[in-house]
Amino acid sequence: MTTDQKNEELNKIAEEIKNFKGLDIARNATHAVPGEGNPDATLFFCGEGPGFNEDQQGRPFVGQAGKLLEKTLKEILNLGRVDVYITNIIKFRPPDNRDPQPFEIEACRNWLDRQIDIIRPKIICTLGRFSMAKFIPDVSISRVHGQPRFVEFLGQKYIIFPMYHPAAALRGTTVLNEFKQDFVKLKNMLNPVSVQPNIPEEKPVITQPSLF
Ligand code: URA
Repeated sequence: MTTDQKNEELNKIAEEIKNFKGLDIARNATHAVPGEGNPDATLFFCGEGPGFNEDQQGRPFVGQAGKLLEKTLKEILNLGRVDVYITNIIKFRPPDNRDPQPFEIEACRNWLDRQIDIIRPKIICTLGRFSMAKFIPDVSISRVHGQPRFVEFLGQKYIIFPMYHPAAALRGTTVLNEFKQDFVKLKNMLNPVSVQPNIPEEKPVITQPSLF
């Protein structure tokens, strides 16, 4: 798909989300939050669900957690929001920022699946346990964060990179440090360090007569 075609398809999904009235959280939302970013992104970030600021603005990760995500993206990967794609498991704010319910995740699943399939990023970074559980069920985030896994999803191969949610990183320095270290791992995955052989270069010794 060309970038223009991808944009067109992503806009269609955004319209469907904005017009959807099939959940209480959709009917009560100030704004739906479909997601935004580069349709050709290598990195696809998936959080949990919109909070107060996101609901006010209709944009993902624009509150305190979003500021930390943006700052870390810039500091460690030298990327801006426009370089990556950012969305959430659910597209409407749950009241009092409660956890998303399974039926809400299910109602929003098709939109997220289509966003992934249009963008086809190389790496899906899950932020927090709800988006991690979509790809890697029954594991604890404290054990598996920062460990990339290959998964096949909708017939395509993706690297899933589970990360702590930035809101959890804001609550304590241990998680904050691990959150940042995971970004360094991500950087190394994007730009693998080239291994220099530590052997002086020598002229090749020809032991076989050349056939030509
Ligand atoms: N937390 C999330 O999971 N997503 C947002 O968009 C904002 C905060």
